[in-house]
Amino acid sequence: MSRSLRHGRQSLAIPGPSVIPDRVLSAMHRPMPNIYGGELVDTSLSVLGDLPAIARTQGHAFVAISNGHGAWEMALTNTLSRGDAVLVVDTGLFARAWAQMAERLGLEVRWVPTEDGYPVDPAAVEAALSADDAQEIRALLLVHVDTATSVLNDVAAVREALNASRHPALLMVDCVASLCCDRYEMDLWGVDVTIGGSQKGLMVPPGLGLVWANEKALAAHREASLRTPYWDWEPRLKDGPHYVKYCGTPPIQHVFALREALDMLIEEGLENVWWRHQVLADAVRSAVDAWSTPDGLSLAIEVPTARSNAVTTIRTGSVDPDRLREIAEEGAGLVLGIDLNDSPIRSFRIGHMGHLNPAMLLGTLATVESVLIGMGAELGGSGAAAAAASIAPHLQG
Ligand SMILES: *Cc1c(COP(=O)(O)O)cnc(C)c1O
Repeated sequence: MSRSLRHGRQSLAIPGPSVIPDRVLSAMHRPMPNIYGGELVDTSLSVLGDLPAIARTQGHAFVAISNGHGAWEMALTNTLSRGDAVLVVDTGLFARAWAQMAERLGLEVRWVPTEDGYPVDPAAVEAALSADDAQEIRALLLVHVDTATSVLNDVAAVREALNASRHPALLMVDCVASLCCDRYEMDLWGVDVTIGGSQKGLMVPPGLGLVWANEKALAAHREASLRTPYWDWEPRLKDGPHYVKYCGTPPIQHVFALREALDMLIEEGLENVWWRHQVLADAVRSAVDAWSTPDGLSLAIEVPTARSNAVTTIRTGSVDPDRLREIAEEGAGLVLGIDLNDSPIRSFRIGHMGHLNPAMLLGTLATVESVLIGMGAELGGSGAAAAAASIAPHLQG
């Protein structure tokens, strides 16, 4: 027996997997159905039909039984050929991991660097594309929100850079972290391939990789030599037996989970979902601003418009972020996100994606403040009070 405050329900504030709504968990709790017809097939078809709307596209949605890494591979192998070059915007850890995968698939990786704490510079993208006279670059890979730094990149500005350079490369955007948290407009912004995953803003357990493709991407698919049997879009595009949509047995529990989560998103309305994330993320940023001191805590992203509404990376100054997370988890039942940057400036992360309300978020922020006080951290003021004040004007009874 030992004395601890860590009782009650554990709070999860990591940037994925996110909190799963009870409605979604309940929807998964069912016996195995007939997989060749009936409710499962109807539900799966309705899910595939509703997925384009959440990426704001008229394009086609593919669902892989995989995590986000699998969706990356599905996107690359279906649209590119061995030896093609891809231009990768180096926004952080996730961009680098995606590029490594491209390299291992036999693609040639070229880089557009970014500055620590800043989003993509569209002029640098335009310069890199304009220098590619032979048009060897077949795709531009951009991570919308890089979950390590929490930077939010301006996709529309990158599209303009592509247009300005008159370069035909496909624009592929990783929205695994940002989908249903930060505003995203696939068709309006001229994105050709969008990549998502089930376990972040979509509020479904990990296990589904999502890829959306427009007509230009589907045309590239017909020429692509990297296609492999499992990931290949071709059988999945056909109106054949439902079995082939997943290249085998459907992910039954996940299909029902995704149906329920989409229902929740449709009931709330995507614009309202984005608004709620904005209000809650503003509260996190208010808290960090209140805590911050010249040598202490601060937001990792310098540019206010480049801060994600899904996740926030907080630099800790002289506070040890690993110790902070340990006390939060062991002492208070709060799980915070680890430091994923290779920068000497240490950080931790708060995930604020998906199934989240002010009670949950203010609990997280006040608990972090309590841990900081207990560690003797120098604080500029009360972040919990600042966050409460930031949310106050938006509460409706
Ligand atoms: C989480 C994440 C991934 C990877 O997803 P997995 O499901 O862990 O493979 C890729 N990109 C971004 C931006 C992410 O946040």
